[in-house]
Amino acid sequence: MTGSRIPENILDIIRTTENFVVMTHVQPDGDAIGSLLAMSDLLEHMGKRVFAFLDEPISHLYDFMPGCGNLNPNINDLRRFIAECGGDIGAIALDCGEADRVGKQKDMMLEISPFVVLDHHLSHQEFGEYRWVDPHCSSTGEMIFEIAEMLGQTPSYNAAYALYVAISTDTGSFRYECTRARTFEIAGKLVGLGVKPEQVAGKIYDNYSPERLKLMQMVLNTLDLCEDGQVACIHVTEDMFDVSGALAQDTEGFIEYPRSIRTVKVAVFIKETRRDVISVSMRAKGEFNVADIAKRFGGGGHRNAAGCRFPGGSIESVRQKIMPAIRNALDSPPTQ
Ligand code: 5GP
Ligand code: MN
Repeated sequence: MTGSRIPENILDIIRTTENFVVMTHVQPDGDAIGSLLAMSDLLEHMGKRVFAFLDEPISHLYDFMPGCGNLNPNINDLRRFIAECGGDIGAIALDCGEADRVGKQKDMMLEISPFVVLDHHLSHQEFGEYRWVDPHCSSTGEMIFEIAEMLGQTPSYNAAYALYVAISTDTGSFRYECTRARTFEIAGKLVGLGVKPEQVAGKIYDNYSPERLKLMQMVLNTLDLCEDGQVACIHVTEDMFDVSGALAQDTEGFIEYPRSIRTVKVAVFIKETRRDVISVSMRAKGEFNVADIAKRFGGGGHRNAAGCRFPGGSIESVRQKIMPAIRNALDSPPTQ
């Protein structure tokens, strides 16, 4: 049975703890927000009090999700909740590959005990007291469905919707390698609970601002194909954000375009989103492992989707660090 991999002590903590703080990673994507909403909803339906903490206000890309008004980024509210619980409180961190990804409130959060971590990153660096880490799962959303099933809980419509968003975004709409038979089985059950795939896809993929398209035009103009077409690189500058009027979160999905080129094995997207940090997203096809490259620069992720951050520096200086690492890895493919 699929759910038997879940550590029994985690199921016990969920059954017996009355109050929970639930959190996810910084710069949350569809899996992070969907998992946060679904886990919170599941716990509430089990009669628990839940504080669903988001490190920042929800991105406009995901504010269509039912229940997202309950996500709370207010630190004072969080402190008050923890104090009110008087010790009968647990924490659940979702989709976080390492403690730092919890964000600014990491230290306060990690004081909560029991602290449970649910994650599916290949590069996971252990933290927290109780962990279920399964890189075979397509998404943290998939893992939450397994937990609900093991607890004998049927997800509500809102939870099913959130889980469907989590799973469909982390699998690139059921296209990436992480998509398994079980992924479709779970998605099928979520549809059975009332989720309409066409309606959700419309909210995820046909819901963009004109500013985003303007920014995309500029970013696609930066396309640089190298290594005989095996590597495609794009970048975005602060100026492009200013001129287009688009927001940082509007770049989500841009990396799919360089990745879509027939010859490309690795796509790289270098982002100047804040004055002091350059962030890099990478996507790979087939055997190429971008998590290995990202880890070398202090980042992480999955084999086919990973990222890292560089404090300071310029787009060009970051490119000059990343590209040789990719070139070397292309020249010496992994043996396993
Ligand atoms: P994205 O390119 O969509 O930002 O991230 C792709 C994957 O890499 C995600 O699974 C994300 O969690 C991971 N990732 C991106 N940036 C970082 C980072 O700076 N550190 C770590 N550990 N993982 C990252
Ligand atoms: Mn995920």
